[in-house]
Amino acid sequence: MTNVCKCRLCGEESLKEFITLGMMPIANAFLKKENIENDEYKFELNVGFCENCKMVQLIDTVDKTMMFNDNYAYFSSVSKTMEDHFKKYSDLLTERFLEDGDLVIEIGCNDGIMLKNFDRGKFNVFGVEPSDNVAEAARNRGLNVITNFFDQKLAEKIVNEKGKAKVIYAANVMCHIEAFHEVVKGVKVLLKDKGVLVFEDPYIIDIIEKNAYDQIYDEHVFYFSLTSLKNFFSQYGMTIFDCERQTTHGGSMRYYVCNDGDYEIKNSVSVAMKNESEKKIYKFPTYENFAENVKKSKKMLVELLNKVKSEGRRITGYAASSKGTIVLNYCGITAKDLEYISDNTPTKIGLYSPGMHIPIVSEKEFHENPPDYAILLAWNYAKEIKEKEKESGVKFIVHIPFARVI
Ligand SMILES: [Zn+2]
Repeated sequence: MTNVCKCRLCGEESLKEFITLGMMPIANAFLKKENIENDEYKFELNVGFCENCKMVQLIDTVDKTMMFNDNYAYFSSVSKTMEDHFKKYSDLLTERFLEDGDLVIEIGCNDGIMLKNFDRGKFNVFGVEPSDNVAEAARNRGLNVITNFFDQKLAEKIVNEKGKAKVIYAANVMCHIEAFHEVVKGVKVLLKDKGVLVFEDPYIIDIIEKNAYDQIYDEHVFYFSLTSLKNFFSQYGMTIFDCERQTTHGGSMRYYVCNDGDYEIKNSVSVAMKNESEKKIYKFPTYENFAENVKKSKKMLVELLNKVKSEGRRITGYAASSKGTIVLNYCGITAKDLEYISDNTPTKIGLYSPGMHIPIVSEKEFHENPPDYAILLAWNYAKEIKEKEKESGVKFIVHIPFARVI
């Protein structure tokens, strides 16, 4: 574990802590039965704000090899919503930026959910992915994947072997990378003339407005705003020339970045900057206020669960997500409160949730033995899940912004 006092992006001497969610396991480290008696790795999950560059970031971080290794359990291709989203994203990049023969690189391609959409007859397409098992899933789809972390050294190697890239893109990856400087140094080396870097990650405005404290976990080192990213990229002679809000992952922002002067800056950038300014994302009290709301949300969820339990109702969790790990641990929800957590990821079934050790079962079991209530631990898929489970008769509890039955 590393503890930083300094801002990772601008070097400002001290980060101002505004929230701690307590001692937390690695959010995606689901356990085998034989390991639940062993000591589980935990670290203090606390978040700070940089007064200088305005970047919100974790204070303590976990070594990346502990999170993204050959046991990484998150496969992107389990959701129809995400499949559709990435098809649109790849079509858009193709239409807007690509010409025949161009090199396209995805940083953190996971199982290839997006990469597979590009026309490999026309473009030279490949991914970089540090987790061996998900990279293997991408290769099994016939995709080219380098198993590694992306940095300047790797970028130089790629330039030597394949030339420079027109589009480098990422989705839900950049905010994970503590060594963001190293990634951008690599991007600078690898981008050709009028090349673009496009990436999207959970957006700070959505996190604050939805009170989505469960976006805070070990993998998410940074909580981006346009304001903070503009400050960061200016160090590299780079400009954010367009941005688009996305509904995925509970509300994200997609950023388009180029070398200074390569593209005209779109109106979307000033609109988003104005919105961030109005919402005061550059001020510390905004985050103190968020922390107060998070405490209130916890209190309400615990009260609601106690009430439902006192009525003799059965409760389970729905979706063994990283977000869920945060909610359960922060709110102290144990296997005494939830009978099980159902999920549709085959590799998670039969395992136990990090920290609270609640058994993970298949959706089949959920349907055969439905509870009265289920906490929706993937609230970002609420619409998709409610539709899918409308026949089950189960009532869903959502914990954000404040606990309620939906
Ligand atoms: Zn800073």
